[in-house]
This record gives sequence, structure tokens and C-alpha cells, in this order.
Amino acid sequence: MLRCDRCGIDLPGNPLRCPLCQSALSGTPDNTGNRFPVPNTLPKASRKLLALIAFGTVCASVISVVINLIRPAGGWWSLFVITGFASLWIDFAVLIRKRNNLTKDVLWQAVVVSLLAYLWDRFTGFHGWSLDYVLPILCTCAMIAITLIAQIQKLHIQDYILYLFMDCMLGIISFVLIRARIVRVITPCAICFGASVIFLAALLFFERKALWEEIQRRLHW
Ligand SMILES: [Zn+2]
Repeated sequence: MLRCDRCGIDLPGNPLRCPLCQSALSGTPDNTGNRFPVPNTLPKASRKLLALIAFGTVCASVISVVINLIRPAGGWWSLFVITGFASLWIDFAVLIRKRNNLTKDVLWQAVVVSLLAYLWDRFTGFHGWSLDYVLPILCTCAMIAITLIAQIQKLHIQDYILYLFMDCMLGIISFVLIRARIVRVITPCAICFGASVIFLAALLFFERKALWEEIQRRLHW
């Protein structure tokens, strides 16, 4: 049976979310049939969030094309930024259907796309666009997206804190990239590093206990 840990109630059937608090559910659904009608449209707040993220990715894509037009050196790296966002959107489309653990998927998508971009860059003469732009932009977007999703979906801190923490740690790499002079375009990496430190500080100041508990739980200490 599915359970809402937040409200402490068991739910028969296969509802997508808790009917009381709209949180994600744990446990396995049973096939007794839903006692309450299941809405198949997204809540208004989620639709707003998706529109916001869509607008954000369009803006970021346009900015990357504009920068690319001004600085054509290094080839058409902006195409890869757009491919990254397109990939995030394909992922979102899948998750709108599934709607469980969107925050985890956002993190992994950022990691996988960054890694693919790096490999692509590496084997096409290494122009540096993957580390200059793709990694820091995706990393920063993921931090913001995880936080927004958690607020809109009213997630329990335990459901997303580790993903946000891991994304922050990934963002800290930007500092190393700048210091080691591996990146030539400093701005995206500097923004990513700044955002990582701020998000990390927020986690450590306000959610230290939850973070420590989650790390212990995951490592089975
Ligand atoms: Zn609930």
C-alpha cells in the first residue's frame, strides 16, 4: 500500500500524490482501485513552474547563441547547450508522466549531459565549450530546478537534500576549473561556483541535521 510519510496515512489504490498535502508517496501501489478520483492534469503551481523553467531554458539557449555569434571562436558550441536543454526537456516530459522523484532525475540529467558534452568536446578537438558553458550552466540550472520543484511539490527535505548537496559539490568543481585555468570563459563557472557555495551554506546553516542523517542513512552507518 502507498503511504504519505508526511501525513502518516496509508492510501489504497494508486493515487499519484497524497490527496491531503500533495507530497510524493512511498511504498508500492495495490490494485484495489482508487477510492478517490485521480486528477490527470498537473496542479496549477506545477504548470506555472514548468512554464518558468521552459522560459528559463529558452532564455539561456538564446543567450548562448548570442554569445556564440559574438565570439565564434571555438565553433558552434551553443548547439550543444541547446542539445543539453532539449535533453532536460525530454526528461521533464517523461517525468510529467511519472512524477516521482523529479529532483533525483534533474541531478542525474545534469551529470549525464555534462559528461556526454565533455566526451563530445574531447573527441571533437577539445574547444572547451563543455567545461566553459555546459557544466556550469546545467549545474546552476539543476540547483535552481531542484529547489523550485521541492517547493512546488511540497517535498519533504529528506526527499531532495542529498541531490541538492551532490549538485552543489559538482558546482564546486567550477572553482578548480577556474583556478587551474582549464576554462577560458570565466563567467558561467564563477556564477556556478558562487551559487554552489550559497546553496551549500543554506543547507549547512538550516538543514545540517537532515543532511547528516541522510548521508548516514545512505551509507548505512
Ligand atoms: Zn500527505
